[in-house]
Amino acid sequence: MRPGRSRIARLAAGLLAGAVLACAASPAQAGPEASSAAPARGPAVAGEVDHHMHVHSPAILDFLPHYCSSEGRIGPCPVEFTKAYSPEDLVAQMDAAGIARGLVMSTAYLAESPMMQPPRPDAPRILREANAWTVGLARRFPGRFGIYVGVNPVTATALPEIAHWGANRDVTGIKLHLTNSSASLRKPGDVARLAQVFDMARRTRLAIMIHMRTRETDYGARDVATFVREVLPAAGDTPVQIAHAAGWGGIDAQTLSALRAFADAIEADPAIARHLTFDLAMVWKADTSEQDLAALASLIRRIGPEHFVPASDFPFSGDLVDYYGKVYPRLPLSADEWHTILDNHPAYDRADFAQTRTRP
Ligand SMILES: [Zn+2]
Repeated sequence: MRPGRSRIARLAAGLLAGAVLACAASPAQAGPEASSAAPARGPAVAGEVDHHMHVHSPAILDFLPHYCSSEGRIGPCPVEFTKAYSPEDLVAQMDAAGIARGLVMSTAYLAESPMMQPPRPDAPRILREANAWTVGLARRFPGRFGIYVGVNPVTATALPEIAHWGANRDVTGIKLHLTNSSASLRKPGDVARLAQVFDMARRTRLAIMIHMRTRETDYGARDVATFVREVLPAAGDTPVQIAHAAGWGGIDAQTLSALRAFADAIEADPAIARHLTFDLAMVWKADTSEQDLAALASLIRRIGPEHFVPASDFPFSGDLVDYYGKVYPRLPLSADEWHTILDNHPAYDRADFAQTRTRP
């Protein structure tokens, strides 16, 4: 299950392959060569654990046509998002990329998204069914997945749903998605509810994974300041993973502002980062500018590569061999920095985290 070759050798091959592809004269020349070479060379830079993956449950697949055609959507659903990938498809992708273990984020919270208009009266049932199916993956594929149940943190369902799963020893953590939940770090009521959710996670020792970028067009430093001051302390010593390096995928001024604010806060008080990690899921793409890549790399250095973890946001990443082999090596980090990130194993990575987190 574990990749047989040394990670450093694979990393070196990956960085080289990335450089070769970046220099390729035309896509037509690079295409066939790259696709035939990739399986033989194997994955270049996938870590042993992918910290951010999705596979929709049947309950959410049933719900998606209603959700994607809802008037409350801010845009159409991406094609990758609506495809019916099976857990077997996900495992096959992981095997091809040499990934031993994936942290699977339940998409149950979609059922309680305010983007669903009119709201479904049976949303709590869909939420529960979707989470239950996702939790079942832990037993169906022993050791392969860490399971995060999804909730919308600003609904009345959030705390009871977390309490329901708190004692379940197949559950690693909770997944929150502030954009999808239309939660704001500028509304005191939302901030208070988020702090309650973090406190509940602390009491049940569930890890937290949060997509914290909100829908505010000027999201950034001030939202991070509120989060660090009023939400994060409620988590205590339970681990918190910030998705997409504090953005929502891609690099723009807002994401850099947010990540810079974390760097400033951690430099002022390193204790903030003790249980904090940032995932690198879909933060840069095949066409991200060198300038943006350099800006991200310098913020990773300020915060410390030991606070970053590899992740794909599959299925949004597309094929994982391509993603880790071609897109990942574009980030201009040193071999040592890459090694630190790819071999970074926070406590919640471990297969026994879910079994051992519940207090007697
Ligand atoms: Zn995601």
